[in-house]
Amino acid sequence: MNSLTEDKYASKKAIAANEERFRALITATSDIVYIMSADWRDMKQLEGRDFLADTNEPLADWIAKYIHPLDHDQVRTAVEEARRANKIFQLEHRVLRADGSIGWTLSRAVPILDHEGKVREWFGAASDITEAKRAEESLKLTKELTEQQKRVYETIANSTPDLMYVFDLQYNFIYANEALLSMWGKNWDDAIGKGLLENGYEPWHAEMHQREIDHVRATKTAIRGEVSFPHALFGKRVYDYIFTPILNDKGEVEAVAGTTRDITEIKQNEQRKNDFIGMVSHELKTPLTSLTAYLQLMEKSNPAQEDPMTKKILEQSIKQSRRMTNMINGFLNLARLESGKMFIEKEPFDFATFLQEIAEETRMLYTQHRFAFSEMAPVNINGDMGKLAQVINNLIGNAVKYSNLGTQITISATIEGDQLKIIVSDEGTGIPQEEISKLFDRFYRGQNNNLIAGFGIGLYVCREIIEGHGGKIWVEQSTGHGSTFCFTLPV
Ligand code: ADP
Repeated sequence: MNSLTEDKYASKKAIAANEERFRALITATSDIVYIMSADWRDMKQLEGRDFLADTNEPLADWIAKYIHPLDHDQVRTAVEEARRANKIFQLEHRVLRADGSIGWTLSRAVPILDHEGKVREWFGAASDITEAKRAEESLKLTKELTEQQKRVYETIANSTPDLMYVFDLQYNFIYANEALLSMWGKNWDDAIGKGLLENGYEPWHAEMHQREIDHVRATKTAIRGEVSFPHALFGKRVYDYIFTPILNDKGEVEAVAGTTRDITEIKQNEQRKNDFIGMVSHELKTPLTSLTAYLQLMEKSNPAQEDPMTKKILEQSIKQSRRMTNMINGFLNLARLESGKMFIEKEPFDFATFLQEIAEETRMLYTQHRFAFSEMAPVNINGDMGKLAQVINNLIGNAVKYSNLGTQITISATIEGDQLKIIVSDEGTGIPQEEISKLFDRFYRGQNNNLIAGFGIGLYVCREIIEGHGGKIWVEQSTGHGSTFCFTLPV
């Protein structure tokens, strides 16, 4: 062999070795590999690695076979650019997968040059980036949604006249809506990150809210309060506010959100209404008191009425005027209560005697029910006799109202420890379970009582009077066969 032939043989061997290494590399890589003709018209070969279908024969319409229709133009443009500059082709694009689904690849191809420096073909590799792309897309979507949600919440928070804010656990404001900022006369940067005092709250007010924030944090429950303080421009205002815990994903309180509503107008209207009720009741009561007194005088001045008809009419008139007095007293109490002018004037008295007097009055007033008043030994109570009489009369009045004629109403009193417990039971309609918690609310009336007269203030006033005595009032039980109301008084 001459040396020339030897050289040729050696270089052929080297090429063969290189090609083998190259093939091994292609087999070893998990990437898709492909070879394109110099002008990218034909795909010479593609190993799809189960991700894409293989191509073993030269294929002219590789774009239609592999590239997602929406990315055809993008791929063509990138190919043109790579060809023009003979530079690496690189693109992320959607592909049509072997199983018919849509995937994503990151594809790169390099030009292979011949000995004259002309492009002979392109060698490419593509990796499956479907998962990464999906994650990226869903992240983008989440981000867009979050931002949209933020815009929605911000618009709501900034369009309400209510004050909205969030405290961190060091009592600093970390959010304030525009209504609050404008009430303070501050902008976001001046106010956020600052505490209550720095934002102009009086020390008592700041301290109160700090205690409430601690409470919300400790109990993880919302609280509601009412506060009144002078506003720089609008004078004294009354505010209703709610503090609510914001919980993190471990269920711990991470901040406290608050909303505050200016209820000054509502309060003023309520006050006007109460004043009106008070005034009307007072005006009605004066002539009614005289009327009752005249009727009683008439009855007393001629006790042995000759004419039974006149006697009956007189009795009924007294009864009805008493009922009306009771009703008006209820309104007067409500008006006094609401304006904070209901005073409990306590004095010591014997409850047994007191109950006996009520028993007599009751039997006279309601003749169509049977009454059983328990006997009791004298017991000393410190209380407002007039108001306590109203409470018992109210419970008895309700028992009469909500039960059939001829049924029994039982009133008993027992001592339990240092409490006197008074029980009023009837055999009436009873109260639906879901209504029981609302009975003592102002103006609450049972749903089935449309035909029975009433204003829904009796039990509300009763509760205020009993609580004013340091006692409690509740419904002990109620079934379709009757109800039992109880209250306690400290002995
Ligand atoms: P009113 O009787 O004027 O409606 P109250 O405040 O005295 O107002 O009572 C509130 C509601 O409680 C009544 O509407 C009625 O539904 C219910 N209620 C009170 N007492 C009784 C009772 N003894 N039996 C059944 N329901 C009662």
